[in-house]
Amino acid sequence: MKTVQRTTWKDLIQAVIDRLPCIFSLSDVLEFKEQLATKYPDNRFIDAKIRQTLQVLRDQGVLKFLGRGKYTRLDRTPAMSLLLDPRVAVGLVSRAQIARVTLETWAELNIYCLDCTWDRLSRLPANTILADFTCPKCNQRYQLKAKDGRFATVIQGAAFAPLIQAAKQRALPHYVLAEYDTKWLSMSWVRAIPGNLIDETRILARSALRATARRAGWVGATINVGGLPSVDLVSPKPEDRNTARSTWETIR
Ligand SMILES: [Zn+2]
Repeated sequence: MKTVQRTTWKDLIQAVIDRLPCIFSLSDVLEFKEQLATKYPDNRFIDAKIRQTLQVLRDQGVLKFLGRGKYTRLDRTPAMSLLLDPRVAVGLVSRAQIARVTLETWAELNIYCLDCTWDRLSRLPANTILADFTCPKCNQRYQLKAKDGRFATVIQGAAFAPLIQAAKQRALPHYVLAEYDTKWLSMSWVRAIPGNLIDETRILARSALRATARRAGWVGATINVGGLPSVDLVSPKPEDRNTARSTWETIR
């Protein structure tokens, strides 16, 4: 006699998605297909069953469909913090170093991969050319540019030679442009630009550093990002007014 299946499809799929990042794709779930098939060896329609179960979880408010095969769990959305914490730079003296460490720590804790469903990026070693972060899942690289205030359409790049070479191959990392406000120690606007859209016409060499400079002869570059499409990760959205009123009630 066969043992009674006590685990439901819903329980199985729920256990699978609990192990996935908050935003995941159907293919992430299908990677567990063989594992699921061992629980239900008789079921010839595993794919259909998975899709159907995801729909049930959506109807029950556990998931939301984002379109194009992507889903997000509604139970555990990772919250993005806008606050910069300079305490992570304790012991550093130079303002530039304090800003860099504070901003990189913020990005490491809050920026997510845009190419895949991974919710965190990993910091690359400090001497890595052109990129600061990488996605542990899909290996996409990201360069963080941060500014106290607003960015112009032309941003400071790194050394000209590797930049122009990567641009010619359309192989630049994605650029995360993070604008912050030191007065409030807060991010004010963060957007991302696809690196593959930055071609060599957008990379301009700057004058070589003078003979008296520490890195004499070094040629830096600027990147013209004007008109390129971007995605907002942080934008100063107005708060919901009812939330504002009820918060007001608690502070006045
Ligand atoms: Zn990724």
